[in-house]
Amino acid sequence: MNPAGMIYLAEQNIDDFLPDKYDACENSVRSSEGTLFAMVEDRRGNRALFVSGRAENKFEGGESFEEGTVFPLTLENARKLSEFFSWLKPKIAGSDSAFGCGDRIGLATPGHIRAVEKGDVVPVLAQQSIREMERTGRNPRSVLNTAVWGVFREGFEEGFVADADHLKSRESVEKTASAGYTMFTCDPSEEVENEADRMSSDKLESKFSRIDDSEELVDRYIGKEFTATLDKFDYKYESSFSWKDLMGAAVKYYDAVLFADRMYNWVDEKVNGNFDFEVSVDETENPTSPLEHIFVANELLRRGVNLTSLAPRFVGDIQKAIDYIGDLEKFEEAFKAHCAIAETLGPYKLSLHSGSDKFSIYPIISKYAKDKIHVKTAGTSYLEALRVIAKGNPDLFRRICRIALERFPEDRATYHMTTDLSRIPDVDSLDDDELPELLDQDDSRQVLHVTYGSVLSCEENGEPLFKDELKNVLRKNEERYFSRLKDHIGHHLDLLAGRS
Ligand code: ZN
Repeated sequence: MNPAGMIYLAEQNIDDFLPDKYDACENSVRSSEGTLFAMVEDRRGNRALFVSGRAENKFEGGESFEEGTVFPLTLENARKLSEFFSWLKPKIAGSDSAFGCGDRIGLATPGHIRAVEKGDVVPVLAQQSIREMERTGRNPRSVLNTAVWGVFREGFEEGFVADADHLKSRESVEKTASAGYTMFTCDPSEEVENEADRMSSDKLESKFSRIDDSEELVDRYIGKEFTATLDKFDYKYESSFSWKDLMGAAVKYYDAVLFADRMYNWVDEKVNGNFDFEVSVDETENPTSPLEHIFVANELLRRGVNLTSLAPRFVGDIQKAIDYIGDLEKFEEAFKAHCAIAETLGPYKLSLHSGSDKFSIYPIISKYAKDKIHVKTAGTSYLEALRVIAKGNPDLFRRICRIALERFPEDRATYHMTTDLSRIPDVDSLDDDELPELLDQDDSRQVLHVTYGSVLSCEENGEPLFKDELKNVLRKNEERYFSRLKDHIGHHLDLLAGRS
């Protein structure tokens, strides 16, 4: 063993300190406590952690060389490494604006980091719902693992959040908490009574009277004025609950509130220290009214749920992969009210899910909430990966498109979308250089966006049909992939910061 960590200086050529078959990922090179650390890559593109010096014996599963030891990129080794470099440990965003960059394939983190380097927002680099993990054959540990090693590879020291998104059970809270997630997004949608919007007054009344707390609810809400303000904009939202408003909000959301409260306690029991907690009701049938927002947030806060963010279902049509559909003035009016409520009752942040590609509402969000918003994106980075595939391997891209179209009717079931398949050009009639157009056309974007699970998990004779091939093309073209992500996610962040 040659304790290179003791003698390596930044201006020296790091590769002189490595075993012959490896090159260093330059931004990763660090030294600490007499030990040299670097992410290294062999000729075939396999990456590993190189450690040379006193700390070598702390890591697991290594292969020794004269120059030091090379270790696999496991979550355990990432944890050990974070004892030397605390920026490798996921942190919380707290009240700072945050931007979620979900990565369905597991190769995007360096591109995401390049997009967020301007520093306006705290990046959320691991962000997957349990549904997404199931569809892509991943799990909380593997999702976090690829993010952490991406952070090390880039030498990104600003910190990042790991969001366990759309949690619906205690089991998923426990799995994500023990993996090391720092943000927990509670999805109580199974407890939301969407029917409440359509119930007759009699039915509402009888359902309402069955709520244990109904008399206290009446005391808390009936005959009270609710005022929320945005001082900076000289804006005031004032309203009060009619009987119907209260019964509607309570019948619709009361069980969801109880569920979110329980989940908050599950997280609290399991996580040592601080965590971010979001409650998302963004997947309900109808938009969340300002009064419903007041009801949900107030009931959560008075139970001691320390809300970091809340995701209402915003007014208008927020579909996957495409711009906002709806009246921008109405959106602005509602957004302002939600902002004022979040500011006055909390403060906590508003959270916008499916936040990618909604370029027309970004100026409004920027105006009222650029310093107190949480945005989540995921599929849009997958689409950027497909753009790289379309150019790097047109034949693979065509095969992906065909499977996507075949699986779309089934895969769209859990999403609300107005996709018109007849507008999508026939992939076989397009020339190779026309293929990327499918990623600029709304209908084909949506088809490709929601079929990620089928594409990434489909098999033939027990072998993955596309996954490995797709990853290989991305690895071969990774600089193009990262620069696409930098531009595309960066465009969102520029709009959010009010830069363009
Ligand atoms: Zn969501």
